[in-house]
Amino acid sequence: MKYLSEHNFNFPFLNRRKFIKNTVTTAGAVLAAPLIGKASSGPVKQGDNYTVRQIMDSFISGVPGGPLSDTVDTLKAGRPDTIVKGIVTSMFPTIAVIRKTIDLGANFIIVHEPTFYSHTDNVLWLNGDPVYNYKEDLLNQHEIAIWRNHDYIHRVVPDGVTSAVLAQLDWKKYSDPTVINLITLAPVTLKDLIGYTKQKLNIEMVRYIGNPEQSCSRVLFIPGAAGGQTQVGAIRKLKPDVLICGEISEWETAEYVRDAVAMGENISLIVLGHIASEEAGSQYMLNWLAKNFPSIKATHLNCGNSLSFL
Ligand SMILES: [Zn+2]
Repeated sequence: MKYLSEHNFNFPFLNRRKFIKNTVTTAGAVLAAPLIGKASSGPVKQGDNYTVRQIMDSFISGVPGGPLSDTVDTLKAGRPDTIVKGIVTSMFPTIAVIRKTIDLGANFIIVHEPTFYSHTDNVLWLNGDPVYNYKEDLLNQHEIAIWRNHDYIHRVVPDGVTSAVLAQLDWKKYSDPTVINLITLAPVTLKDLIGYTKQKLNIEMVRYIGNPEQSCSRVLFIPGAAGGQTQVGAIRKLKPDVLICGEISEWETAEYVRDAVAMGENISLIVLGHIASEEAGSQYMLNWLAKNFPSIKATHLNCGNSLSFL
């Protein structure tokens, strides 16, 4: 089976971040180096207590291919040997999410996206920045650990994020057996399809390009921010009636679809917002924690909507 997501190297057009090296460094004491290689020393367990490292290693050990030598899934704050008092899952570790984590008495946040505003979380460019300093101080003061689980959850088979959001949309049964991102629905207007996704994903708004009365049956769903060339490449290859994605660069896929519509192609675009398109993945993590570490209290925090921060 093939899965289209932000990181699927089985597809030649899905290679946006393929060459990014894991050269994360931090200005402070925050650990950002991967724990890969240390896993063999074994997780630390103290009675019913589990460490950050143990939870990370446990998830990674269940991912096909095991530990990656080149990944952004590193510890962004805190220490691997910290005993976990409670866990929060969220798409982004926003300051609001960190504050709520502190209020909950938790000290470990598992996120899907960066902490410090770039894919690698390299913070050298943020040296002296007041927002960065505030966030890092808050994390250090309260000894909060943050682990980004991005590459690993996308490598679970089937992709942990895509399958979770397809389940939320109730589309798993309509998924193509070889490319789960390709969904065949009974014909529906673009307008009604938008209404359906908003209702199922519990979001108030989407962005779209196309004729609201266009008939849509063949739906290509690519969560997250796959990048313009990946999204357009997938449209060319799979010829959907509509592409539903998390995020676009406004000068890439949106303009391509606009021109394709002007040419008379039966295509449209729905942009859900990055968070809404992958939020279900954080719920997947919550379920995984409940199953594997039932003694630890875990909470999912929704960090808002990418299309409206108010
Ligand atoms: Zn993702």
